[in-house]
Amino acid sequence: MSTDRRVALVTGANRGIGRAIAHGLSKRGEIRVLAAARSAAGAHDTAEALGGAAVGIVLDLSDPQEVAARAKAIEAEHGPVDILINNAGVLYSGDALNVDVEALDISLRVNTMAPFALTQVFGAGMKARNWGRVVNVSSGWGSFSEGLAGPAAYSISKAALNAVTVSTAQALGHHVKVNALCPGWVRTRMGGQSADRSPEEGADTALWLATLPDDGPTGGFFRDRQAVEW
Ligand code: NAP
Repeated sequence: MSTDRRVALVTGANRGIGRAIAHGLSKRGEIRVLAAARSAAGAHDTAEALGGAAVGIVLDLSDPQEVAARAKAIEAEHGPVDILINNAGVLYSGDALNVDVEALDISLRVNTMAPFALTQVFGAGMKARNWGRVVNVSSGWGSFSEGLAGPAAYSISKAALNAVTVSTAQALGHHVKVNALCPGWVRTRMGGQSADRSPEEGADTALWLATLPDDGPTGGFFRDRQAVEW
């Protein structure tokens, strides 16, 4: 089955990699993009910046309970979501002895629990319709095989997002492809201007995973469209 006339929701679409993913999906023409930002102004500006090719929607990921309720409201207003891109993320610095518990709490809520809540709500419909794609924008810093090498709250939350990827892929069956990726080091507010990749380059593997064919992989972790170790 092709992705014709699918609906895709991209979190954190107002800037950075999320903006590039929303742009990449909307310019294909056959996918209706819901570009999510945490504020009404951000949603409005994002839709304008995408030239009207996407619908701007408000979605704050700070509270997983509210996220689930909001996800149901979004489907009631915009119809079923077929492609979910969990892109939004936060990064707090500090190793495990030098980071506030509050920073770990918000990192887990935005980077891990909100993607889980969105996947539960939208994934149920995808499974019932026998088609769906869930893309979790993770990080090599969340990889055990790469040594959980980032700041503690970030690495812990992204490692947990990787676990969410495997667990939800198991629950959603083979018609719904759930995968995680590392975008590389990308020039965004989070990555800084010294990073070696443009947002468009950082978006490439996410766009590939969002539009996988029916025989594509599920429950995997990718960088540059290649499987990598967890
Ligand atoms: P970015 O430019 O800092 O953008 C982060 C996005 O997340 C923004 O749209 C931000 O919205 C949104 N966000 C943060 N907290 C939110 C909340 N509570 N509710 C809703 N939205 C929220 O970062 P980026 O580099 O594009 O990162 C995108 C993803 O790639 C993240 O998951 C990040 O961990 C991952 N990643 C990035 C790099 C890199 O080198 N840049 C490397 C590996 C992985 P506001 O504008 O409202 O804050």
